[in-house]
Amino acid sequence: MNELLKQLTEAVGVSSAEKEVRLLIKDLIADHVDEWRVDTMGNLIALKRGTGQLDLRVLVDAHMDEVGLMVTEVDSSGMLKFEGVGGFDDRALLGKVVQIGPKKLTGVIGARPIHLLKASQVNSVVKRESMRIDIGARNKDAARSKVKIGDVAAFVTQYEELGPTAIGKAFDDRAGCAALVELLRAEPYPFDLVAAFTVQEEVGLRGAQVAAYGARPDAAFVLECTPAYDLPNKKDVSPNVALGQGPSIYVMDRGTIQDPRLVSHITHTAAERNIPFQIRQPGGGGTNTAAIQRLHGGIPAATIAVPGRYAHTPAMMINLDDYANIVKLAEATLRTLTPQIIRRDA
Ligand SMILES: [Zn+2]
Repeated sequence: MNELLKQLTEAVGVSSAEKEVRLLIKDLIADHVDEWRVDTMGNLIALKRGTGQLDLRVLVDAHMDEVGLMVTEVDSSGMLKFEGVGGFDDRALLGKVVQIGPKKLTGVIGARPIHLLKASQVNSVVKRESMRIDIGARNKDAARSKVKIGDVAAFVTQYEELGPTAIGKAFDDRAGCAALVELLRAEPYPFDLVAAFTVQEEVGLRGAQVAAYGARPDAAFVLECTPAYDLPNKKDVSPNVALGQGPSIYVMDRGTIQDPRLVSHITHTAAERNIPFQIRQPGGGGTNTAAIQRLHGGIPAATIAVPGRYAHTPAMMINLDDYANIVKLAEATLRTLTPQIIRRDA
């Protein structure tokens, strides 16, 4: 059992309420870094001093937050109305168990049983506005004594391994956080490494913008978990990325064209070390790279990601070899990075 992934995915950290994840990571890395601090937004930023061989300062980012819900209103029957924190498909919500607020009160997103549905209702999508979280309260006052407006709710999913794959919640991006913890536990790098475990990615890359601005690195890498759409398809459609084919390397998404010098450094490193990798089909999506690469006078930045099925639902799936390989690839990429790779002569 990968204890690191188990601990990190079972911890709760909906955007803006990342404290449990932050405390856990702080304990996991404290003995392996020279300094750590928490900034105003809640980003955990650690410095691992290098051997001094190279005059570089490199940032590696992984976001701590996960998508979830926020309580917006308690209705007269004691049911909780909610909004999404981060992007959701409403269809993923009905019937799911959630944990609400700092005390982790259990609730369920109520669904009308199939027995009581009219034929026309069976085929229609229930909108989020008409869903409620049921905490078993008898009335509004009983509910208000347990829950505050603005409390966030997270899904409840146990981490489990099924042969080469694992199921859990929030691999996006606790898989990246776990990989970054492993990078910090390794021997010092030839340069100072700044690790940023960032907040509020899911609501607009907000934490990374602040963390990277403060760190002012010469180059940055973002470790992510990217949605894989690799299930059987009737048409002749190739998957954007597939589980078990290695870490995915971003080239372009909605917010960036990744730094081509770093992309080529990562792919060369993977090929040289015989680490499997796949190029993520260029297109939509976005990562903290978009926020980081436009700071100061521009920061070369690139993303490497573990493919994960069912992103932004209560249960995701990753392949554990892909996870092991992203750790290998990220470490090798760092150990072979030189100032020449990101120097522009013309
Ligand atoms: Zn993510």
